[in-house]
Amino acid sequence: MIDSHSHSKLSHDGKVSIEELRDRATSLGAQYLAVTEHLDRDYLYCGLSRELFIRQLDLPKYRRDFLKAKEGAKGIYLAYGIEASYAIKAENRYLKELSQYPFDVIINSVHTVYKGDLYLGKAFKHTRAEAYGAYLEAVLESVKASYEYDIVGHIGYVSRYAPYDQKSICTSEFQGIIDEIIGEIIARGKTVECNTNVKLPGIVFLPEVAFLKRYKELGGERVTFSSDAHTPDRICEKYAETCRIVKSLGFENWTIYKERKPELVKIEDFNGLA
Ligand SMILES: [Zn+2]
Ligand SMILES: [Zn+2]
Repeated sequence: MIDSHSHSKLSHDGKVSIEELRDRATSLGAQYLAVTEHLDRDYLYCGLSRELFIRQLDLPKYRRDFLKAKEGAKGIYLAYGIEASYAIKAENRYLKELSQYPFDVIINSVHTVYKGDLYLGKAFKHTRAEAYGAYLEAVLESVKASYEYDIVGHIGYVSRYAPYDQKSICTSEFQGIIDEIIGEIIARGKTVECNTNVKLPGIVFLPEVAFLKRYKELGGERVTFSSDAHTPDRICEKYAETCRIVKSLGFENWTIYKERKPELVKIEDFNGLA
């Protein structure tokens, strides 16, 4: 098993130490766990509350704490990762900051649309067409970002919190921009994560199966498993189910990153397991 996305309490919404994440992954028998703390430089341009400002990630402390946890890692590759939260205004900052640390893996995610994190709900004053359209435009922009990254984070994040009856982003009015996003991901050789941190009826992970199917059709190969765990119990959550779905779409390997280099890991059958 592998897991390309997790957060410790160094992230503003995390709860436990890196060691606790590591020990849970080790006890599950996972061979790879990436710790990917939030680097929310997008918040700096949103005019959000002071609380979010003071809880910005302390990169030097993260480096120190990670190395301590890495020393105690036995039988598992603990990857030094980061989740950069995209905003066009944060691009220059990321260009500088991301190159200052020897990350194994960088996730690029869109969380903020209309100057606020989507989980705050502000964006949903707008119609579905507006909010989803703005989100997908931001994802397209983020994929083209000039800084280094490896994985496109939780595509469809907007639907995690959306109040609309039609939660899916994979409807005909967005097909054009979805194809454009997929084309850019493939052209840049980036990896799409299957993010199981979602509680929507009938959905095991984001992006939606229809998105992944289209990605495969257009020639996409690189996918990875991401629990996006903020607590140890969620590490590798819904792994077997995700493997089954992804394999049924024709994908054979997960892509993981060590020292920013992609490696393939065979997607196993987990028949009978949840
Ligand atoms: Zn995220
Ligand atoms: Zn995350």
